[in-house]
Amino acid sequence: MAIRISILFSMLLAPLLASAQAPDIRANPDRMEQRIKALGEYGANREGGVSRVAFSNADIGGRAFIMDLMREVGLSVRVDTAGNIIGRREGSVEGLPVIMFGSHIDSVPGGGNYDGDVGVIGAIEAIQLLNENGLSTRHPLEVVSFTDEEGGLTGSRAMVGRLSDRTLEVMSHSGMTIREGIREVGGDPNRLDLAERKPGEVLAFIELHIEQGAILHQERINIGVVEGIVGIRWWDVTIEGFANHAGTTPMDKRWDALVSAAELTLAINHVATSMPGRQVATVGRIRAEPGAPNVIPGEVVMSLEIRDLDAWKMQQVFERIQAEAERIADARFTPIRFSEIDVASPPAPTDQQMRRIIANSADELGMSYRLMPSGAGHDAQDMTHIAPTGMIFVPSVNGVSHSPKEFTTAQDMANGASVLLRTVLAIDDGALE
Ligand SMILES: [Zn+2]
Repeated sequence: MAIRISILFSMLLAPLLASAQAPDIRANPDRMEQRIKALGEYGANREGGVSRVAFSNADIGGRAFIMDLMREVGLSVRVDTAGNIIGRREGSVEGLPVIMFGSHIDSVPGGGNYDGDVGVIGAIEAIQLLNENGLSTRHPLEVVSFTDEEGGLTGSRAMVGRLSDRTLEVMSHSGMTIREGIREVGGDPNRLDLAERKPGEVLAFIELHIEQGAILHQERINIGVVEGIVGIRWWDVTIEGFANHAGTTPMDKRWDALVSAAELTLAINHVATSMPGRQVATVGRIRAEPGAPNVIPGEVVMSLEIRDLDAWKMQQVFERIQAEAERIADARFTPIRFSEIDVASPPAPTDQQMRRIIANSADELGMSYRLMPSGAGHDAQDMTHIAPTGMIFVPSVNGVSHSPKEFTTAQDMANGASVLLRTVLAIDDGALE
């Protein structure tokens, strides 16, 4: 009887244990670092970073390097009509949706070696680890390197069917329009519909990326589980005063637009810091007219930017700032006007289940993790429109990014790739169902 019970037990528990204990596979830090360095040859700048803006010769060289690497690990490579590089590994079950992961390899002018690159090299590493461990997946896997991330998420936007015709005419850093650039890298800007992926085609999308901030580095945490990409809203704030002689107008007879602007700037900072949460509000530009040392400023135009993961919260911050502005306008006789600029991007939360799977994967590998928002934009925010999306952050030393001084250690890159692979395997195993 006891034997029978134990057999029954093992029959019941075995499948559970099998799925709960995925093989402990770790990425190879040296291999990843060596590949990051090799990729860094394309567009290398004197400061030790890269200038590999999309569609440039450096970008085209880097793309060829990545395609070779993809083929080396057995992926079948194609370039879609938006210029996205896609390397595919078939699954063992026919007709299942694809699990997609990757990032981008283009950089800002004067950029670093890790932004985007870690996600693409890490995705290729994950495929190589599957090969080395003789593992197949049920679902097909696709490694993607998106076109022109830094120029406005061009490739991912096309993949979700949201790249407008107007955007195609925008001049990119390469000196080509985006339309010309897409053609240059083997895409077809007239058939972007063919690059679109429909909901249901992609089971999940995962992007591994450097944090580009200092939180993980400072707190000595291995992995950031990204809660979403924050939304952004911009305003022009105009403050009307009265320009007058700075020598003859007594202090109590002034309508000084710049003094009001200064007070409002402090109030904006106070509003954002006094509410609970991680919202940020910034005045980044200010212009006083007429702009002479001996004239009381008659008009000030300044910028206001608010970012948060929660659109409602952003609105709350804005309304409190508006209330402060009214108070200041009344007290100083300087009307204040807000006009919103049409560049808003809404918050893009990641998928709740994906967060859980990534957190579990880190935990099972013995890595520390924390939930955090992304203050920077990423291709992942587009992919949230068509698939459950997750993002894995690894530490950026001192939070430096978009700079040749950007740095992430080999071990941190490998940690990220290990979590990525484990996440992919969990999803393949039905963790999203
Ligand atoms: Zn990036």
